[in-house]
Amino acid sequence: MRLYQRLVEPMLALALRRRRLALLDFDGAVPEIPVDWRRDADCEAPCPLVKDRPPRLIERYVSRRAGWRERLRLMPMVVDIDRYPDAAAFDAALKARSTRTLPKIRKAEREGYYARPFLVQCHVHDVHAIRTSMPMRSAGPVLDYWLLKPGHIAEPATELHPFGWPTCPMHWIIWWGVFLPEPGHRQGGVEVGERLVAFVKMWRLGDIGHYTEIMGHRDHLDKGVMLMLHRAIVRALIAAEVPAMRGVRVLLYGALEHGRAGLLTWKKRAGFRPTRMTVSSSTAG
Ligand SMILES: [Zn+2]
Repeated sequence: MRLYQRLVEPMLALALRRRRLALLDFDGAVPEIPVDWRRDADCEAPCPLVKDRPPRLIERYVSRRAGWRERLRLMPMVVDIDRYPDAAAFDAALKARSTRTLPKIRKAEREGYYARPFLVQCHVHDVHAIRTSMPMRSAGPVLDYWLLKPGHIAEPATELHPFGWPTCPMHWIIWWGVFLPEPGHRQGGVEVGERLVAFVKMWRLGDIGHYTEIMGHRDHLDKGVMLMLHRAIVRALIAAEVPAMRGVRVLLYGALEHGRAGLLTWKKRAGFRPTRMTVSSSTAG
């Protein structure tokens, strides 16, 4: 992976950037947003993050200096959370990109789908079913389709636990999911009463929220569950009701150059835009 990032990504950046920006109808300057991934003043023990050196994600996506080398860096795709004063403003942005998005999400809500954060240990078998439901995805082939076993995902819970927000509000991994009520539905020996049909494994590093993995079950993808999930997360970030969802400056989902054109179209519809993230002055040096 490291070798790929060092050798292949700069070539991708050079080869694809112009064409992909054109696909997005993106003209004009790419905005720059300064980010602080440490947020030392708001970080609380016990924090799961070792902070002696920047995590790989930061080295990969955050520009440290101007210059030609930065032209070889992948272009982050970002939702600029500060642009949206309330949920209605984000809905307006979704609508501007596709008139079909909101009606589809509302239809899914009427059919009983709902989104919330969850503990992965309580839904391991459903995560497995989602990951192995398709051999190919918009990002490329899915090795999990052939190789994944439930035990690889997490140690399955032996009883039902409620979701709890992490201790450090600045640095965490939270799984968010879309569920359908299903009385009697079980995960191993534990009755959970609902079926997980889509998930995102989300990271937070200070100012940056990041989708490391986002996936839906083949049988539910045409219901708009992925955009429903994404909208629920952006709404929680805008509402900022819990400390863990408060003060996320940007929501990052990979790069302009990643995946096939279908993935880029999805990101565009979801409100992601090419953006340069730079080191904020509070963390420089
Ligand atoms: Zn922390």
